[in-house]
Amino acid sequence: MIRIEQLAKIYSHQGREVRALHNINFNIETGQVFGIIGRSGAGKSTLLRTLNLLERPSAGKVVIDDQDITSFDTQQLHALRQRVGMVFQHFNLLHAKTVIDNIAFPLKLSGKYTRQEIQARVNELLELVGLQDQGHKYPSQLSGGQKQRVGIARALANYPHLLLCDEATSALDPETTQAILRLLLDINKKLGLTIVLITHEMQVIRTICDKVAVIDAGEIVELGDVVDVFLHPQHAVTQSLVAENQALDLSVLERSDQDADRHLLRLSYVGTSTHEPIITRIAAQAGVDIAILQGVIGRIKDTPYGQLLVELHSTQEQSATVEDLLKNAGVRVTRISAAAEVH
Ligand code: ADP
Ligand code: MG
Repeated sequence: MIRIEQLAKIYSHQGREVRALHNINFNIETGQVFGIIGRSGAGKSTLLRTLNLLERPSAGKVVIDDQDITSFDTQQLHALRQRVGMVFQHFNLLHAKTVIDNIAFPLKLSGKYTRQEIQARVNELLELVGLQDQGHKYPSQLSGGQKQRVGIARALANYPHLLLCDEATSALDPETTQAILRLLLDINKKLGLTIVLITHEMQVIRTICDKVAVIDAGEIVELGDVVDVFLHPQHAVTQSLVAENQALDLSVLERSDQDADRHLLRLSYVGTSTHEPIITRIAAQAGVDIAILQGVIGRIKDTPYGQLLVELHSTQEQSATVEDLLKNAGVRVTRISAAAEVH
């Protein structure tokens, strides 16, 4: 649905050039929830805003449904923006208007609908986002989560094909964040809507995204299925974002006692094997003790996963046997043999 080729953006700021995006290439398929994650200042907002040309790229192409939108004239751009909804971190609601009028606003602006049609559509949207009883309130009378529900309803008003979310949950508490993410996922499934979201939180990516791109200093440093990127992050930025989310304490690996009989392994597994007592079985089979130093069992979107850091007291040979048994059981094994390799 979206193809980004050789995209670059350079801002000039007080006579100096700021390279905000450089050599960006990726595709987004219809119906996907595509996440872009990075630290503050990485270029996330700039990248998202090129997808509806709120920001014009300095070079490269943004192809949506086989049309390069960078070549669009004013009229084509206007039509494009109706097909692309946007949700903001700070909601951007009209404070002097009620919930109903906020949601009706883009419908009136499009000039395509009668009063009755607008009313019917607003009711439909209120129901979709769970605000049936809140239509006559003003934004100041709503909670943060409710405001974002209005923001989402407004973004969906004109039947967009694509929804862009710029840190849509970053101003919300963890519980409300989960509720809003569930709503977005629900909309993605119900309407088949493609969603592109940017965030600095791996938790958000893990909860609803199918694919993720990691951006750092204006460049994509890692890209892939969320399960792969989350369980096997390659780039240092990705690794630190994942570690934050899992609260993994890697300092346990920094041990001074270099004992040849100690073997550290990082294990990860996805799917139903998560529920099997693999470790116990294999420890018994190989006749070695396996100590679990750290463990996480969780969910990446719909996929259960487990990740363990284990220590074996065994000979090299036994350790190799354990590794083989684990691999045969569908567990991915990474050997962490010396502290030096961790750094
Ligand atoms: P993020 O959303 O990841 O925090 P942004 O896309 O907002 O990052 O910004 C990326 C970089 O571009 C930053 O260095 C920022 O200071 C710079 N930048 C963003 N907007 C402008 C602008 N209008 N003028 C000059 N520099 C900008
Ligand atoms: Mg931003």
